[in-house]
Amino acid sequence: MNIINDYNEIKDEIIAIRRKIHQNPELSNDEFETAKTICECLDKYNISYKFPVAKTGICAFIGNADKGKTVLIRADMDALPVKEESGVDFSSKNDGVMHACGHDVHVANALAAAIILKKHEAELKGCVKIIFQPAEETDGGAEPMINEGILNNPDVDVAIGIHVTPLYPTGDMYFKEGPLMAAPDDFTLTFVGKSSHGAEPENGINPMNPASEFVLGIHKELAKEIDFSKNVFSVCTFNCGTSFNQIADTATLSGTFRSYDDKDRKACDRICREYAEKLCEKYNTKIKFAYSYRYPPLINDATVCKDVKAFAEKIFGKDKIKEFEKPLMTGEDFSYIAREVPSVFIWAGCGDENHPCVLHSANFYADENVIEKAVRLFVGYTFDYLNR
Ligand SMILES: [Zn+2]
Ligand SMILES: [Zn+2]
Repeated sequence: MNIINDYNEIKDEIIAIRRKIHQNPELSNDEFETAKTICECLDKYNISYKFPVAKTGICAFIGNADKGKTVLIRADMDALPVKEESGVDFSSKNDGVMHACGHDVHVANALAAAIILKKHEAELKGCVKIIFQPAEETDGGAEPMINEGILNNPDVDVAIGIHVTPLYPTGDMYFKEGPLMAAPDDFTLTFVGKSSHGAEPENGINPMNPASEFVLGIHKELAKEIDFSKNVFSVCTFNCGTSFNQIADTATLSGTFRSYDDKDRKACDRICREYAEKLCEKYNTKIKFAYSYRYPPLINDATVCKDVKAFAEKIFGKDKIKEFEKPLMTGEDFSYIAREVPSVFIWAGCGDENHPCVLHSANFYADENVIEKAVRLFVGYTFDYLNR
């Protein structure tokens, strides 16, 4: 079996599908046309699948669970509310929506892997599930897909996800055992004051004052219990007032807390609320406070991570396989899968020196040569693992 040759046979078709999905991006939980494109491809190659799972999700099956273990390969498929400025000739036709996180490439990776694994199905000693999940960027599609049973019947032994990033050149892959991506919690805090004429502040209560003090003072409060060498807290929005001569009724802040420990998450929730309440006493305001516990942190299984990394070193060479020095502060709902079964999440460079960019930006650009790398790892490792 030669995965590079297998991939080259379907490369044009896979690139065309990737570009079609790039050109027709869909927001989280609205990936109906994307799912249709994927199902059509699975049908063409006679790959069985379940659809819908969690609204727009797909779970494809290859191999035979009676013969051995089960590997799960995961792709996400939603786009972002970003207006594309990448300049590629297959730019988004859906104004204000863009595949700026590379999930179109993830779909291509997983589809190509599915087609090649199907071609060699008779040689597989076990089962492969390939999932295409909705809504990674918002509510999370992994958890509802788990609730609909994707990890059972047959039970999954190992799960793998790959995320592309233009930060690193194509060919480089980054691994890390243990904590890899943070819990991306968020909060919204509204101070409720009383509006008045700007010339007569004595008749009102300006909610901007406690809100400003909160922005400037909260880190010091949080730092009494939370170690900021391992966690990040940012206030990211401040909305108050519409007119230069009117004191507003309310000031609303929102932001995010990135962490790896439930104890820190609870502490952040409590300290923000207590500090805001203290400011209310000082400024005679009231608050509305909501803290959202979102995705859990993504923890890579040490054994699986070592195993996949060693395999990647064998096929790509040690110089291409890198190690993150510390956990990232971004979030990922693959964490729900990693919480249930031994898993590894890998970052694969898709950077092109002629298109410098970052994830989630309007000029996001992915070097499509990353697809071959991802496919070699997905298919190669799956065979290696199942046929031991
Ligand atoms: Zn993203
Ligand atoms: Zn992403």
